[in-house]
Amino acid sequence: MLRIPLFSGLLLMLFSASVYSQSGKIVIAHRGASGYLPEHTLEAKAMAYAMGAHYIEQDLVMTRDGSLIVLHDITLDRTTDVADKFPGRARADGRFYAIDFDLGEIRQLQATGGFRLVDGEPQAGFPNRFPLGKSEFGVSTFEEEIELVQGLNHSTGRDVGIYPEIKQPEFHRSEGRDISSAVVEVLKRYGYTEKFSKVFLQTFSYPELEIISSEIMPAAGIDIRLIQLLRDRDAYPWMFDDEGMRILAEHADGIGPAHPLIIDPESAAGDLRISALVERAHAAGLDVHPYTFRADPGQLPAYAENFDDLLEQHFFTAGVDGLFTDFPDLAVQFLQAR
Ligand code: CA
Repeated sequence: MLRIPLFSGLLLMLFSASVYSQSGKIVIAHRGASGYLPEHTLEAKAMAYAMGAHYIEQDLVMTRDGSLIVLHDITLDRTTDVADKFPGRARADGRFYAIDFDLGEIRQLQATGGFRLVDGEPQAGFPNRFPLGKSEFGVSTFEEEIELVQGLNHSTGRDVGIYPEIKQPEFHRSEGRDISSAVVEVLKRYGYTEKFSKVFLQTFSYPELEIISSEIMPAAGIDIRLIQLLRDRDAYPWMFDDEGMRILAEHADGIGPAHPLIIDPESAAGDLRISALVERAHAAGLDVHPYTFRADPGQLPAYAENFDDLLEQHFFTAGVDGLFTDFPDLAVQFLQAR
């Protein structure tokens, strides 16, 4: 007789420890809680974790000595002080490429939120976010970030996932590097090996996705979920019909489209122009995780009254399965309240 309440208590515990929201929809912390702390720093990842994100994103590029670092650009100059610390190390285009630096050099850099130089002065991409150049942040490796998430999973009992992106695989190949094999090796080493592992591996490159799916993962003996990112219709127009989605589904488990591909930015409130993309993807068995949802001033499409409205329109009117946001707290709270 005692077993029944014990069992329901266990179920309740399992339920509250679940990383999925009640609706089964997921919140992906885009570059961490990047709305509040400098993107891709371990601090931004810890904050995203504490805010209840279900998955935390890592963009990955390779250093000269073959380390994988968590960085959005293949260059270091938008988010670090590399130009001050290593003057003279830029290529002819004026950019400082991560692939030209060893990890030990990158360790010396101070990381900040994104900025650009206007008349020689750094100007923040998002002026309302964490101030440029304040406190002390660094660039971390893929391994350090996985250990942060897995360590927090251990200490909290939660099971938050990772969502790595292979940045510009063609650029890395042109530099003689196979970044995808390196990423797969690290994932395998840290136990991400099966479809049910808490990981989605993403890339914008369909040729690379095919190589990962049909060569790299089989060679490594792993089989994890892959996401094809879609910036617009131009790169792979064939993907956008039923047949294209079926072909894509032979290699991918989901798509990560820019959100204007789902709801037309020219839509009016109460008259949303929703594309057939979600329906087609779902018909092919693909999950849909659009990007990037931002609550900063000026970032809201005209058709949405506020950030919750934007989330409602995508999660429940268009029916996406998850989304990338710089403000994971707001999306988690929205799902909890609904
Ligand atoms: Ca990304």
